Amino acid sequence: MANPRGFLDFKRVDLKKIAPLERIKSYKEFAFLNDKKTQQEQASRCMDCGVAFCQTGVLEQGRDIGCPLKNLIPEWNDNIYKSEWQQAYERLSLTNPFPEFTGRVCPAPCEDSCVCAINTQSVTIKNNELAIIENAFEQKWVRTNTPKTYNGKKVAIVGSGPAGLACANELNSLGYKVVVFERSDRIGGLLMYGIPDMKLEKKVIERRVKLMKQSGVEFRVKENIDSKAKANKILKEFDAVVLATGASKAIDLDIEGRGLQGVMFAVDFLTQNTKTLLDTGKGGTLAQDKDVLIIGSGDTSVDCVAVATRQGAKSITRFERSPKKPLKRVSDNPWPLKADIFTTDYGLEEAIAKYNQDPRKYQKMTKKFIGKNGKLEGVLAVDLKQVKENGRLVNIEIPNSEKFYKADLVLLAIGFSGCENEIKENFAIELNSKNNIKERNFQSSREKVFACGDARIGQSLVVWAIKDGVECALEVHRSLFNLYS
Ligand SMILES: Cc1cc2nc3c(=O)[nH]c(=O)nc-3n(C[C@H](O)[C@H](O)[C@H](O)COP(=O)(O)OP(=O)(O)OC[C@H]3O[C@@H](n4cnc5c(N)ncnc54)[C@H](O)[C@@H]3O)c2cc1C
Ligand code: SF4
Repeated sequence: MANPRGFLDFKRVDLKKIAPLERIKSYKEFAFLNDKKTQQEQASRCMDCGVAFCQTGVLEQGRDIGCPLKNLIPEWNDNIYKSEWQQAYERLSLTNPFPEFTGRVCPAPCEDSCVCAINTQSVTIKNNELAIIENAFEQKWVRTNTPKTYNGKKVAIVGSGPAGLACANELNSLGYKVVVFERSDRIGGLLMYGIPDMKLEKKVIERRVKLMKQSGVEFRVKENIDSKAKANKILKEFDAVVLATGASKAIDLDIEGRGLQGVMFAVDFLTQNTKTLLDTGKGGTLAQDKDVLIIGSGDTSVDCVAVATRQGAKSITRFERSPKKPLKRVSDNPWPLKADIFTTDYGLEEAIAKYNQDPRKYQKMTKKFIGKNGKLEGVLAVDLKQVKENGRLVNIEIPNSEKFYKADLVLLAIGFSGCENEIKENFAIELNSKNNIKERNFQSSREKVFACGDARIGQSLVVWAIKDGVECALEVHRSLFNLYS
């Protein structure tokens, strides 16, 4: 156990952050680790509870309890407290192959399930994780994991997001020759072209990919496995194929005016910005001087607000269908479930600082896109209210509440509806009712073809994708060597 009085003696100290008005001048990361002494004090707040809910890693009522990777959190908190940084890194590496990603972008369900969070602030688990891995890189403890011998089998992985990377990393260390096929020009999936630099600078991904290459993983970019012929070719060439292709089919808003210039998917907007930034050193300009309306309320919408703010949007509005969330947990969202409460994430904080108003407008439903000469000019939207129908809360329109909202760029961030359809035809596999790859123990309906990450579980989180990738690799290994009991 760390310091038995730690949680009494020390208050939670978060990462040091650059102020919103300053950080919006660039796309650089804006949160930095504290010095080692402060981080040790923070780790000392961990009580090493008898039952440590932070590492439970289960889904209950569709919400996380604890870390999906089952990170050995109390153990490495104790290591940090005792200044045993190398042991902390070794412990963390047992469960998480990429703590530098989760330490930056994970929404940290572990912290909502921390016992301290019942009546005070949780332990800074995510920041401690980041401190361990960044210190390990600095000390050069993070090394290649080239297998001592190869087992003679080859696996192709289609898709290089966190699931594909985790699967490749695990299979490589088990002695497989692994080739990752990626249709994009850069490795990383949504880590690269989705999550913006402010949350995850792309050099962090490149640092890991370099290590994986040195360990023996082969990466082939601009390789789209987009036809039956290409799918059959890799099926012939490799002992197994893992589909880690994500759940990139964005949900559309099929209403009047959808074809107008100025209505686009949020992910396309974010991708365009990151690609321009990486290729030219400067971000995109799609939102510059525009009235931007973002439809949707998840992580993607927050990233859009952050990027539009940096691009110099004239105004930013965000429509949500739901009412404002409660400030505290309500009775059907008890500890240790992930808390479903009102928060103001980084992009919203920045927009409030720049535009002096909160971009969030609640209980709005867009009915029509309006424009002239093919160009968007705004939207017609109505107000919603929640009523109980057969015991369930449903949104209904408030009559005569229709109003025009000016907008010359609308970004659709209303979620994803599973895999792209082509994957089904090209690999001759089945999808389930949610449009994800149908599987049993990661094995798809076709022999030799496996699935992991968002392609298997639907749009999720980086931490779940990593967990899925590792577990899929172990299943491929069991299957190819017939290790089933
Ligand atoms: C904008 C945005 C922000 C997000 N922010 C967060 C966050 O802050 N924290 C968090 O935990 N999660 C976040 N998520 C969710 C998270 O990014 C995903 O759950 C995660 O990346 C899924 O990993 P994956 O490897 O399964 O798929 P992906 O990351 O989607 O990777 C799939 C890869 O497969 C490639 N591919 C697809 N088809 C083919 C083909 N036929 N041939 C070759 N390559 C192919 C794609 O190009 C892509 O690179 C965010 C998602 C979005 C959209
Ligand atoms: S991966 Fe996420 S849930 Fe797990 S310890 Fe890290 S921040 Fe917490």
